[in-house]
Amino acid sequence: MGNLSQRFGFLNFPKGFVLLLKVKQERRRMIESANTGANIHQFSVDKTVKNLGSSFSGLTSLEAKKRLKKYGLNKILREQKKSALVFFLDQFKDPLLILLILAGVLSVSIGEMIEGIAMFAIVLLNAILGFVQEYRAEKAMEALQELTAPMALAIRDGEEQKVPASKLVPGDIILLDAGDIIPADSRLIELASLQVDEASLTGESLPVQKKISPANADAPIADQHNMAFMGTVVTYGKAKAFVARTGMQTEFGKISSSLQDTQKIQTPLQKKFDQLARHIGIAAVVLIFIVFVSGMLLGTLSLLEMLVFALALAVATVPVALPTIVTIGLSMGSKLLAKFNMLVKKLPAAESLGAATVICSDKTGTITQNQMSVTRAFFNGQTINIDAYSGFSVGGKVINPAGMEPFFRIAFLCNNAKENGNGAKKMVNGNPTDVALLAASKKAKFERSHFEPYFKFQAELPFDSDRKMMSVIYNNNQEGRTEAFVKGAPDFLLESCTRIYDHGTVRPLTEFDRKKIIGANQSFAENALRVIALAYREIPDNFVHKIRLVEKDLIFVGLAGIIDPPREGVKEAIARCHTAGISLMMITGDHETTARAIAKQIGLYKIGDMTLTGKEIERMPEKELVEVIDRVRVAARVLPVQKLKIVEALQKKGHVVSMTGDGINDAPALKKADIGITMGITGTDVSKEVADAILTDDNFNTIVNAIGEGRNVYDKVIKSAKYLLSCNTGEILVILLSILLQLPLPLIPLQILMINLLTDAIPALGLGFETAEDNIMERSPRRPDERPINGKRFISIIIMGIVMALGTLYLFNEYLEFGLHYARTVAFTTLVFIQMFAVMSSRSLTPSLKKLNPFTNLWLLGGVALSILLHLMVVYWAPMQSIFKTVSLQWNDWWKIIAVSSIGLVIMELSKVAIRFNRSGPKHAK
Ligand code: ADP
Ligand code: MG
Repeated sequence: MGNLSQRFGFLNFPKGFVLLLKVKQERRRMIESANTGANIHQFSVDKTVKNLGSSFSGLTSLEAKKRLKKYGLNKILREQKKSALVFFLDQFKDPLLILLILAGVLSVSIGEMIEGIAMFAIVLLNAILGFVQEYRAEKAMEALQELTAPMALAIRDGEEQKVPASKLVPGDIILLDAGDIIPADSRLIELASLQVDEASLTGESLPVQKKISPANADAPIADQHNMAFMGTVVTYGKAKAFVARTGMQTEFGKISSSLQDTQKIQTPLQKKFDQLARHIGIAAVVLIFIVFVSGMLLGTLSLLEMLVFALALAVATVPVALPTIVTIGLSMGSKLLAKFNMLVKKLPAAESLGAATVICSDKTGTITQNQMSVTRAFFNGQTINIDAYSGFSVGGKVINPAGMEPFFRIAFLCNNAKENGNGAKKMVNGNPTDVALLAASKKAKFERSHFEPYFKFQAELPFDSDRKMMSVIYNNNQEGRTEAFVKGAPDFLLESCTRIYDHGTVRPLTEFDRKKIIGANQSFAENALRVIALAYREIPDNFVHKIRLVEKDLIFVGLAGIIDPPREGVKEAIARCHTAGISLMMITGDHETTARAIAKQIGLYKIGDMTLTGKEIERMPEKELVEVIDRVRVAARVLPVQKLKIVEALQKKGHVVSMTGDGINDAPALKKADIGITMGITGTDVSKEVADAILTDDNFNTIVNAIGEGRNVYDKVIKSAKYLLSCNTGEILVILLSILLQLPLPLIPLQILMINLLTDAIPALGLGFETAEDNIMERSPRRPDERPINGKRFISIIIMGIVMALGTLYLFNEYLEFGLHYARTVAFTTLVFIQMFAVMSSRSLTPSLKKLNPFTNLWLLGGVALSILLHLMVVYWAPMQSIFKTVSLQWNDWWKIIAVSSIGLVIMELSKVAIRFNRSGPKHAK
């Protein structure tokens, strides 16, 4: 339906015009009120603070609130949301509804005035039903979008706070980190090697190195080197900045066309069903034509009778509710997934989740707890055990850690974890690796007070997952020199070491040392420890702090072994994946041995499975990678670019890939994956922007649960669709058979319309509330190219249709002697009741007694009750009787109707068993 509104784009014109005016007003208001932040790039940092009326401890939240009123939300105005009215009118753009309206016109034109009007009324009611549902679904999706709106890290009331990016105001201090999308035009005041990708603004494809010195007053955007612009991306480093301009005042706001169309994407399932509905529409027209022509040729019916038959057929065939049901099913599914901690950003993900055949998951934080602690150290050629209770020991003998000062000096200083609060509320924040190293130093009694007097911070070269290390540069006042402290992955760091610290002296690193260090690293890793190597070096004063100059010729000091236990329930979740036919791959930047040890613990890796390292992936020809990829369970020391290769290889093998990733460089792999999943807690802005779904709790188990729920979302859509189509089939067959059997028309068009648009559509919505079937995680993933109505389901639809038609015709024929109106009322009621029983049978795709208990889905039961109520009204209420040509039924006729409907249900259930036996081949291979 969405594509129609696009085609009739001119309908949006007045809305666009109003918006244009609004944007102009908004711009004027902002230009008047916000001149403080203009041209801020030419001023010194101090002048900047003054101009913005802020301070180095940021704004107070009260001031921020005031400013928010003055400057407005930090948002780019886009096309306004569809109003409820537009939404309602959209319902009538459906070609199928138009077909029905034509039928109404036809009905009026053959003199059935009241009937025609009633037809329009039913169409209207159906449109309202569709509107309410779709509007709710749309609101649910919007609420999800709100939940995934970007956040920014600001300093307010003197504290770091997460603030919605839309609430930033000029004067706010923000902190920027690699992977952030810059939330507003900001003046940089502190930098750690900040690099920004400004391609979206300037077209410059290489990242720009930023500075804090003032720029020329007339510098173009590309030369305003002390500014960070909204919508550009931090590719490396960190920074602190003052927000200068927000919303439409930003450079991005000025160039972005405000009237962008937010295009709706259709999911594959929506497309397939839209197509199916359209094909059925075409088939209907052809069918009616054939019936009409053959009727005329046979000459058994008058022209008027033929017209009425044709009308009835048209009304019976059109599956109006079908496309709506699919849309609602998917968006409501997304809403449900949010309860399972999976926020679906793009609707197609709700659908493809259920088809996932492989989960590629990060290790750290997703499979493991991210609760790290240092349990082992390697220093001065010895392995030292660190235990929470017994402290530091070597070979069972307790030692005093005071001698480990050079080790903890690096662990403490080359560290971004921060202590906040004091007393009982003292908390350490930061990345878990850093937090663990800080805790170990404190355990060894090396605290801030120990280092602070002698060491003055100079600069940082932040960690990134490509070089897998980080450095800091300090002035060592005690010895009057500048030193770099470096920590990182041992295999990477060791390559840059030429010397070693050994019992107080520094000497060249020998081949023997190297072997010993690698041996220690290996033994730590075999115990599932994450290993960090520590090193340092002296550097000349006034040295350019470039990675390539600093991180070489290092002095090796030691290794820290950090434990990070698997999350609870991961083992069970992995077992569930195995029964569900879903393959798994753990992808990590960590060491191969560590990764494999953890994989073994959680039942992910068995003898005979493969592990690959990033280097091996790099070396392997693509063909070979595709060849082996199915057997790989662990990919270790992987660089972000290699994740992309893994996704591609898996897809070449026919997999539907779900891939997790949180870093800035993970974006290409997330985009390429069928379901790109990022982390709600640790995910960067960039990864959130491209991902299809967000894992709010970063937990692997959630992915598995969401896949189960995703399968159910798909199931439910299929169940509703199958039910609706079988109802249409039943209605068509009733009419076709009555022509063949030379019976009068068993149902008048208005009755069929009522069934088709209301009595069967309402319970079909209830099918959207079904809980998952018991075996949902015991079957294989569906084939990605599966047709939603495949052979089996098609046969089932036909059988259900035949049951409905035969039951209806049987009783119609029985009651014909009581007069046509009475017989028609019996037929009308029989069809409705068989359909109410059929919806119960449709609750499960396989034979299931449990699913026949109507009290396990109260929404569905309510829908059925409502439909029956509507029907009784039409049958027993005099004003309706005259419109619908019905008469009151006798009580004893009800027994027959119920009996026929029950037999119908039994046949439908038995046919499920038959279809299942008939086709119960082996589970399909991927
Ligand atoms: P993953 O998230 O898959 O565990 P990472 O890219 O975070 O992989 O880490 C890869 C390696 O980089 C780790 O095994 C560790 O040796 C090193 N490393 C991780 N975090 C830090 C850090 N903060 N400082 C220095 N080295 C680190
Ligand atoms: Mg990590």
